[in-house]
Amino acid sequence: MSKHNQKEVERRRTFGIISHPDAGKTTLTEKLLLYGGAIQMAGAVKARKAARHATSDWMAMEQERGISVTSSVMKFNYRDYEVNLLDTPGHQDFSEDTYRVLTAVDSALMVIDSAKGVETQTRKLMEVCRMRNTPIITFINKLDREGKEPLELLSDIEETLQIECAPLSWPIGMGKRFKGTYNLYRKQLHLFTPGQETRLKDGVVIDDLNDPRLDELLGSQADELRADIELLEGAANPFELEEYLKGNQTPVFFGSAINNFGVQEMLDAFVELAPPPSPRETTSREVSPYEEPFSGFVFKIQANMDPAHRDRIAFMRICSGKFTRGMKLRHHRIGKDINVSNATIFMAQDRTNVEEAYPGDIIGIHNHGTIKIGDTFTDKEPLKFTGIPSFAPEHFRRVRLKNPLKTKQLEKGLIQLAEEGAVQLFRPVINTDYILGAVGVLQFDVIMSRLKNEYGVDAIYEGIDYATARWIGCEDRKKLEEFEKKNQANLALDAEGNLAYLASSEWRLGHTAEQWPQVQFHKTREHN
Ligand code: GDP
Repeated sequence: MSKHNQKEVERRRTFGIISHPDAGKTTLTEKLLLYGGAIQMAGAVKARKAARHATSDWMAMEQERGISVTSSVMKFNYRDYEVNLLDTPGHQDFSEDTYRVLTAVDSALMVIDSAKGVETQTRKLMEVCRMRNTPIITFINKLDREGKEPLELLSDIEETLQIECAPLSWPIGMGKRFKGTYNLYRKQLHLFTPGQETRLKDGVVIDDLNDPRLDELLGSQADELRADIELLEGAANPFELEEYLKGNQTPVFFGSAINNFGVQEMLDAFVELAPPPSPRETTSREVSPYEEPFSGFVFKIQANMDPAHRDRIAFMRICSGKFTRGMKLRHHRIGKDINVSNATIFMAQDRTNVEEAYPGDIIGIHNHGTIKIGDTFTDKEPLKFTGIPSFAPEHFRRVRLKNPLKTKQLEKGLIQLAEEGAVQLFRPVINTDYILGAVGVLQFDVIMSRLKNEYGVDAIYEGIDYATARWIGCEDRKKLEEFEKKNQANLALDAEGNLAYLASSEWRLGHTAEQWPQVQFHKTREHN
């Protein structure tokens, strides 16, 4: 690869934010974009969230799909770095997409509310990061409010998420007594002035914590900081880059996103420490981002703004080579070349003039339903990227047609929507029901509205007593047959014909798994 291209790879940082609703993801995103000079985009992020809150009605959400496509990938420049922030939808629109976006990033930022500690959604997203040992930087937010003790927060993270914490900054007080942070790495004190959304001024350098200036600046809290740091030296892990890159350790920052405090400190560390695009596994070999030939995979498909055109945008993560507008790419699953003249290259500030993209970047390709999640595109070599799975659904509905003559259309619609990754489709082995599975419940509303608008199908949902699913694997054919016979009522085939076990509760699932030790129950499944 040419020197120029190599440099382009090295300066890219592609990441997503993992957090529980209300921890401060939107606020933090907005501040990060402001540092990158993406002012309009920052406004759009807030507007989008406001729109989501105003209504959970899918049709109204359609209207703001414009914003939603643009803010799916937020690209900005910071220092010499080109940063791609991939949106991880939360709240009502939490879905499989949220998980799958994390398969397309090189690192993640975890935002934690200091009053709440680790919450459920963060735990689930962390599980996905674990699959690829994604490096994670932690930002503990809302220090301007009363929260848990910092050491308690660190042990919560360590115990709940099984990752070592290495604090790089340390808070001085909290809530009304919040005075700022001490950067353990740079040995700098950053003082907090509430309500001031100023950019970070260079901190006061205090190498020696016994420096009397500390007492002048912090009063009685100077001694508290000294005691904390002494305690930390014995108790906390020193930061090790290698351990962070392997996903074993997370560097931790404290701050307040809404006050823009601690954000730039974290962003500086992020661009310096977070990895550039990493090599990716395929079924045949590992692909390095520095290879000359182009390759990429699709991790998300979004129905487009204009329902009349049934146009869809496939989001492709570039893994190697250089993309130029008008390039011909091979779509290996269907064995066809496509001319990518109308690709959207996601740029926050200026979308129109961008003609090329590099590994780590995301491009959007318009299509009419020919592209599936997990599809690989290259300029020649037949490759198939792995690690872009389906995730076990947690919500289920049975679909009932209002007009039985529409069975064909229903089936076609559901199969296409399943291929898009919008929902998962299961057909029980003992009857002809259509059972839909989703990671977030809003997915069901989306499907119903799209079935009606795009496929002319009128249907209703019925509740069904399932809470979880696993894909079944078993080496021993005989055992598998026995398992199938005994568990018929709980077995179904997914849209690609893979056997799945649907259970009414985690407890039931655990019980069955215990009874059948030779059978594997997989929580994720690779696309064929
Ligand atoms: P998201 O749901 O994770 O995207 O969270 P938001 O960014 O929308 O924040 C949720 C709420 O917390 C909003 O009311 C924010 O104004 C508030 N918030 C965000 N950051 C801070 C902070 O640093 N301090 C305080 N006190 N509130 C914050």
